[in-house]
Amino acid sequence: MANGHATQIDEWDRSPDMNPHRPADPSIDPPAMAIDPAGWLAGAARRPSPHCDDRPDGAPIDLLVIHNISLPPGEFGGRAIDDLFLGRLDPAAHPWFAIAAAAGPVSTHLLIRRDGGLIQYVPCRRRAWHAGRSSFGGRARCNDFSIGIELEGTDTEPFAPVQYAALARCTRAILERYPAITAERIAGHSDIAPGRKTDPGPCFDWQLYRELLRAEHPGAARRSGLDHRCGRPGPESMALPGKSRSDAVGAASAATRPRGLPERRGSPPLRLCASA
Ligand SMILES: [Zn+2]
Repeated sequence: MANGHATQIDEWDRSPDMNPHRPADPSIDPPAMAIDPAGWLAGAARRPSPHCDDRPDGAPIDLLVIHNISLPPGEFGGRAIDDLFLGRLDPAAHPWFAIAAAAGPVSTHLLIRRDGGLIQYVPCRRRAWHAGRSSFGGRARCNDFSIGIELEGTDTEPFAPVQYAALARCTRAILERYPAITAERIAGHSDIAPGRKTDPGPCFDWQLYRELLRAEHPGAARRSGLDHRCGRPGPESMALPGKSRSDAVGAASAATRPRGLPERRGSPPLRLCASA
């Protein structure tokens, strides 16, 4: 984004005061995270969303759902995702915002930014509105019994290694607090809403994620994250009119290499999904 408004947004997003929990140095493994009894994750910036309610009485918390989101699609780092989840998105500010707002109030428990920064909008004990019409294991309405994590990204671009590291760390904290969420009960949005949702998409490296969950040191993301090649390209993750694939490619090509990523001798350079 190049206009003055976008610059202001970027400054806001980078402000350490606004996101005090952003990792200062991705080359250093931070301490383990924990979730308090109310469901707030230590180490995440808290921005309470009005888009939540109580879970049904007796509903277990036994599913974790992985998503991706960017708004507008393919643009990273602005405050539009925050505004969407906090119910203050101005539908007049951008055609995509109007479409997103028209879809009704949504939220997530956690968002992981491209730089690994964690933001929590809804405490895990409460029901966030992230899954929509969905089912898992024969049970409908996955919002009732799931926790949602959004990765800032698209279906067509690799996620950053620091995002995998942050995802693994907060997942371990979630599994610790909610042991009914087993490894088999971690799903993508596309798994619980097939035909309707495609995220986290073919660029999400499930194998790496599961390896990191088993790994003692989350820094393994930095060592292996670049090896992933996206699978088959998918459509845009949101049920919104998509930017063209060439737009997404252009946005990704303009992106700089994330800080702290090692060069891997003998490995291909970071690139887009093979078929993009
Ligand atoms: Zn989703």
